[in-house]
Amino acid sequence: MRNVVIVGSGPAGLTAAIYAARANLKPLLIEGPEPGGQLTLTTMVENFPGFVDGVMGPQLMEDMKKQAERFGTEFLTGHVDRVELGEQPFRVFIEDQEFQAKTVIISTGSSANLLGLENERRLMGHGVSTCATCDGFFFRDKKIAVVGGGDSAMEEATFLTKFASNVALIHRRDAFRASQIMQDRMLANPKINVHYNSVLDDVLGDEAVSGIRLLDVKEKTTSELDLDGVFIAIGHNPNTGIFKGQVDLDEKGYVKTQPDSTATNIPGVYACGDVQDPTFKQAVTAAGSGCVAALEAEKYIEG
Ligand code: NAP
Repeated sequence: MRNVVIVGSGPAGLTAAIYAARANLKPLLIEGPEPGGQLTLTTMVENFPGFVDGVMGPQLMEDMKKQAERFGTEFLTGHVDRVELGEQPFRVFIEDQEFQAKTVIISTGSSANLLGLENERRLMGHGVSTCATCDGFFFRDKKIAVVGGGDSAMEEATFLTKFASNVALIHRRDAFRASQIMQDRMLANPKINVHYNSVLDDVLGDEAVSGIRLLDVKEKTTSELDLDGVFIAIGHNPNTGIFKGQVDLDEKGYVKTQPDSTATNIPGVYACGDVQDPTFKQAVTAAGSGCVAALEAEKYIEG
């Protein structure tokens, strides 16, 4: 019987592990198929406090892991495929392997949707990004593209004009899904030009992005644009498949937590980081909520 089982190894899970381990709870952290989470898909992180010159995303995650290990966190690699949270003790399964726990911290994160192009994956962190807040700063006076037609795409395109000299907004249809006010703001921005009925056919570049190829889905013609960055803003999916029917999720699949808390609807089960945050999605907010989850788990165990 474990005190705490943490599922997920991004900044939320690792921070929860650091706090739980320092509270002598000997947590078990299960790392899934993408150890370190989304930060391992990025390069330089310049907005995590304490790193004056920035820190590489993968390095930051490795250091957080070492810090959690130093205080006695046990790590295990495996894909959690089932949980039973209906009664104490909670049970977490990796195939036939079963772990029993007094508390469970869910920190499985979310995944940005991608288009599925080979070069999109290859150049991720080298001009391809899924986070304007994280990477916009690197594109000062550069040309970039944003893909998508929802609120995120509108918001990111508008935000990125603070840095970029020009933003091409690529949308597969001739009408946006985004709210009218966000569309209007984006369309009024002179630095943004919209490519309707267009899909990203390929990302060009060897070491870094040098351009994109667009396919006009109506005309069936292709064209190339020279630019330095591509932001994919076609939505996120919280990694909550295994928790469906076990904890309360919102209509988009994010774990519902109580206000000012990481508590779910099940006493002893907590959720932190992107898996319960469709709004901010920052490493530092994830880490902050991981800390809260560990403190709440500790209090629950004491109780
Ligand atoms: P979204 O609303 O689901 O929009 C996704 C967009 O990406 C759609 O325009 C969709 O095109 C496009 N898309 C999806 N798959 C694609 C593909 N394979 N190839 C090309 N395009 C593709 O996602 P979101 O914009 O991330 O927003 C998520 C939620 O957060 C929404 O409820 C939104 O209102 C909210 N949000 C609010 C704010 C705000 O109010 N400040 C800011 C950001 C997000 P189609 O339209 O053709 O389907």
